[in-house]
Amino acid sequence: MTLPDGVERRSIAGETGLATRGQPVYGEPTEDGWRRWNPNRSKLGAMLETGMQTGLSGGETVLYLGAASGTTVSHVADFAGPTYAVEFAPRPMRDLLTVATDRSRLFPLLNDAREPTAYAHVVEPVDVIVQDVATRGQARVALENRRFLDDGRLLLAIKARSEDVTRQPENVFDDVLEELREGYEVLETASLEPYHDDHLGVVARPD
Ligand code: SAM
Repeated sequence: MTLPDGVERRSIAGETGLATRGQPVYGEPTEDGWRRWNPNRSKLGAMLETGMQTGLSGGETVLYLGAASGTTVSHVADFAGPTYAVEFAPRPMRDLLTVATDRSRLFPLLNDAREPTAYAHVVEPVDVIVQDVATRGQARVALENRRFLDDGRLLLAIKARSEDVTRQPENVFDDVLEELREGYEVLETASLEPYHDDHLGVVARPD
């Protein structure tokens, strides 16, 4: 497994797993300044655990779409450079603002990821987009935000049930990937089981 600088496999509270250095956020165990990154609570954590080639090396500028209350993006801001965190729901945003008080590189943005024009004046070109919006139109969100990536990577988690609960996940994944190819070259895909059911991890680059 290739891990970015700032992410290590460490034994914390008697269990070995991914960890980053920073203040705890969601009740995760800590030791010597390191905190466990739980892949069951994080699609990006699951992508790293399953050995996907994310291309992350640490220190990148990141645009994170679907930040919720900051579980995953807090780990990202622990090892990345400037991290812009887009979330459109006010309630999780309140928690995210608290998470950001301890993290000078984390910039929460209360915006709709389907309308990037609203934050284009704030977000610089980024090295990586991490997307976990769990909503209908996941390919469209990635395509709308492609403008922020010159080169670099899209790290996307597709949740099949957010697109259509009635269809087979494999068919949903095929359709989302086909649409994604309008603007991206898909480099790798992998199931995120056993950490997340009916989710596909995707590594892509702008085409
Ligand atoms: N990525 C988070 C983590 O690992 O900590 C969990 C994200 S949760 C599965 C999906 C989040 O995406 C929700 O908080 C939801 O409000 C947000 N979301 C859905 N559609 C969105 C949109 N169009 N713009 C911004 N946020 C959106």
